[in-house]
Amino acid sequence: MFRLEGKSAVVTGAGSGIGRAIALALAKQGAFVDVLEIDDEAAGVTVGQIRAAGGQAEATACDVTDHGQVLDVFDQLGSDRGGLDCLVNNAGIAHVGNITDTSEADFDRVMSVNLKGVFNCLKGGVRQMLNSGGGSIVNIASTVATMAIHDRLAYGTSKGGVLAMTYSVAKDHLHDDIRCNAILPGRIHTPFVDGFIAKNYPDNQAEMFKKLSEYQPIGRMGKPEEVAAAAVFLCSDEASFITGAPFPVDGGTLYVR
Ligand code: NAP
Repeated sequence: MFRLEGKSAVVTGAGSGIGRAIALALAKQGAFVDVLEIDDEAAGVTVGQIRAAGGQAEATACDVTDHGQVLDVFDQLGSDRGGLDCLVNNAGIAHVGNITDTSEADFDRVMSVNLKGVFNCLKGGVRQMLNSGGGSIVNIASTVATMAIHDRLAYGTSKGGVLAMTYSVAKDHLHDDIRCNAILPGRIHTPFVDGFIAKNYPDNQAEMFKKLSEYQPIGRMGKPEEVAAAAVFLCSDEASFITGAPFPVDGGTLYVR
C-alpha cells in the first residue's frame, strides 16, 4: 500500500523542514520528486539525500511568489515528466502580529508567499494534471486556518485562504480525477519554529520551546516525518475517496483540548 512508483511529484519549499521530509518520503515510496525551492543550495541537499537513499529527484529554483516563473517551471516539468501526478504546496513563511502591529508590508509579504504562492502553483500544477488525466494535491495549511491563536493575524488569514482554495479546487475538479486536500499541522519542530522563537523571543528561547511543546495536548511538537506520512497517504491511490478534506496532524490541538 501507499506505493508511488511511476508517479511524478512536485514539492514546494522542499529544501527544509516539513517540505524536505515530504520530498524524502514521496521518493522513498517510489515517486520521481521535483524539489522546488527559492534556496538552490537547500534544494540540492534534499535531492542529494533522496539520491543517496536510492530515490529519484531533481532540484529546480523557483520563487512561488513569481507567477510567470511558476507557470514556466510547471510547464517545463510537465513536459519533462509527461504530466504531473502529485503536488504538495508546502512553501510558507511565519509572521507574528495582531491587527494593530501588522504592517501593510508584512501582510502583503505573508499573503504573497503563503496564499498567492499556492494559487500560482495550483494554476501551474492543475493544468499539468488536466493534461495527464488527474492527480492529487496536498496543500500544507495549519491548525490556525480554523482556530485562533494569539498574534497570527496575517499568517492565520493566509492559511484560512489556503483551506478555502483547497475546497474550491476540490469542488471544481471533482470530475477531472483531481483530488485536493489540506493538511493542518499543529506545531512541528522545524527550522521555521526555531527561527520564529529566536526572532521573537531571543531572551527566553528554552522557556518558549517548552511552552510551545506543551501547547499540544499530546505534550510535544510534531516531527516533520509525521506530516510527511499523511502527505504520502493523501498522494497515494489508497486515498482515492478523499477530497476537499482538512486533515489535522496536530497532537490533538483542534479536537481534544
Ligand atoms: P521551513 O523549515 O521554514 O521551510 C519552508 C521552506 O519554504 C524553506 O526552505 C523556505 O526557503 C521555502 N520558501 C520560503 N519562501 C519561498 C518562496 N517564495 N518560494 C519557494 N520556497 C520558499 O518551514 P516548515 O516549518 O517546514 O513549514 C513548511 C510549511 O508548513 C509552511 O507552509 C508552514 O506555514 C506550514 N506549517 C508549519 C508548522 C510548523 O510548526 N513548523 C505548523 C503549521 C504549518 P527559505 O528558508 O530560503 O526561506
